[in-house]
Amino acid sequence: MSRTWVTPGGVHPPENKHQSLTQPIGQLPIPEKLIIPLSQHIGAPATPCVEIGQQVLKGQVIAQAAGLVSIPMHAPSSGTISAIEHRPIAHASGMLAPCIEITTDGADTWIEHQGISDYEHITPSKLIEMVGNAGISGMGGAGFPSAVKLNPGRQRPIDTLIVNATECEPYITADDSAIRERAGEIVEGIKILSAILDHPTNIMIGIEDNKPEAIAALAPHVEDSGISVVVFPTKYPSGGEKQLIYILTGKELPAGKLPADEGIVCINIGTTYAIKRAVIDGEPLISRVTTVTGDAVGTPRNYDTLIGTPVRHLLEHNQFDGQAGGRVIMGGPMMGFTLPSADVPIVKTTNCILAPSYAEIPDDDPAQPCIRCGMCAEACPVSLLPQQLFWYAQAEEHDRLEAHNLFDCIECGACSYVCPSNIPLVQYYRAAKGDIRKAREEKVKSDHARERFEFHKERIEQAEREKEAKRAARREATQQAKADHLAATANGGAAPSAPATASPAGAVPTSSAADIIAAAQARAAAKQANPEDQRAKLERTIASAEQRLKMAEEKLAEAINEDSGKQDKLSAAVENTRQKLEQSKSKLAELAE
Ligand code: SF4
Ligand code: SF4
Repeated sequence: MSRTWVTPGGVHPPENKHQSLTQPIGQLPIPEKLIIPLSQHIGAPATPCVEIGQQVLKGQVIAQAAGLVSIPMHAPSSGTISAIEHRPIAHASGMLAPCIEITTDGADTWIEHQGISDYEHITPSKLIEMVGNAGISGMGGAGFPSAVKLNPGRQRPIDTLIVNATECEPYITADDSAIRERAGEIVEGIKILSAILDHPTNIMIGIEDNKPEAIAALAPHVEDSGISVVVFPTKYPSGGEKQLIYILTGKELPAGKLPADEGIVCINIGTTYAIKRAVIDGEPLISRVTTVTGDAVGTPRNYDTLIGTPVRHLLEHNQFDGQAGGRVIMGGPMMGFTLPSADVPIVKTTNCILAPSYAEIPDDDPAQPCIRCGMCAEACPVSLLPQQLFWYAQAEEHDRLEAHNLFDCIECGACSYVCPSNIPLVQYYRAAKGDIRKAREEKVKSDHARERFEFHKERIEQAEREKEAKRAARREATQQAKADHLAATANGGAAPSAPATASPAGAVPTSSAADIIAAAQARAAAKQANPEDQRAKLERTIASAEQRLKMAEEKLAEAINEDSGKQDKLSAAVENTRQKLEQSKSKLAELAE
């Protein structure tokens, strides 16, 4: 039996998982409309490559990845593109974001697709490309593009692969039910990951001891495979990346370091299933298992849900009782958020829709003043000081928040859960993080603007200095010529002729100089008027901008991977280059009209 380590803090809220595990994973009727947000992941939003009115097949690419840290989107079912516009997305603020709407035709016709079974004979880079093309991003957390995570670079060899099957948040059973029913395919996905990562020495599936059926389902598939199933005591939160790495390896990741820096890749178990489907079956990520639970739904259970399915569709097919429950939560009760509308779609990271009754999860009581009991600090799995963070967040003391490692907070909600004063601590931390990020972005922008202004000013001053130097040289030449002329006249000889190239300041150009200038102007005007030249010039500009964009994106991906602190600056550079590229492209398009 593998050794495990115990993380600090943590809580034991009621699990409430059994309710949704009484039924097998269900299928829903295909919704009439599917809404696919272009950004369901960390990185640049995908770029639509379809038009309104276009017919699409299930699995067809409808939006391309826009750079290295991005993923493509695929049609989850066949139908017609009926809108490309901003729609409400899964966000606590109810914000709108660009989406593609598909009006489905009910036929669910697949595009031609093919996978490969002998992946052992395929190079890791080709396998990573397949994962990227399938639009796979982490399905258990923030949605980091998996192809980027699986490519940590030669300088960071991976010796440990951790598959996260913890699913520690109450109510959620999406991974548990998937393991029970799809253990064979999940283990196949882990073997593909092992091939991609050059067969790490340690491959572990980390799972809590409250999932005995899932553990039993994995057992026959991991036999003699070199994969160990490591079971550890249930405690919330054990599923955070840093927490799980500590539990399984005893290694503490220093702040600002990535698992890859320690030779570790940590991946959600749902993602391994998606990777198996992508490589062996040739299917992109177009559906996921989502738990629908809470006392306000008729039959809590898990569904294989098409990405883009409106939450309303899930609720309507599950006898949702709006009178019994007031709110619908995306995610679990600890880390989830209340949806402002049931029209938002399921995305690649949606593991749960929770519709609790009023009695089950009552509305929060009003917050009371902090009594300095210290219970929040005891519960924190990252050993932060939540009470201090709360004060600094209230006072908007950003420097102190950063000094107290606000960005190490995993927003698990354990501190809020134990707080006897009902202070919504996590909400303060989320807001403070948002404010700090915004301030950083603004600083990058203003630094950028200041640099541009200073560069422009320096260029003008330099041009002025050069002009002045030329004027001085011309004055000197004129005076010299006059002196020579006077000297020659005094000597009774002929005056030397002026050099052909020198023309005193303010003098009318000689006819030959005027001819040269006129010819140059005519050439410039002809070039300006010649669309072929303009097109060629724009094409050159576009090619060079594309190259610059690629390089900038590579640097950004590297910075994200290394968490070097340059992400904001590089992100601004990528955006800047992308805008210039778009401008050149639209000029070229105008020229073609
Ligand atoms: S648990 Fe609540 S009341 Fe107690 S110290 Fe923390 S913030 Fe204050
Ligand atoms: S939300 Fe943040 S501060 Fe609170 S317990 Fe979790 S990690 Fe600690």
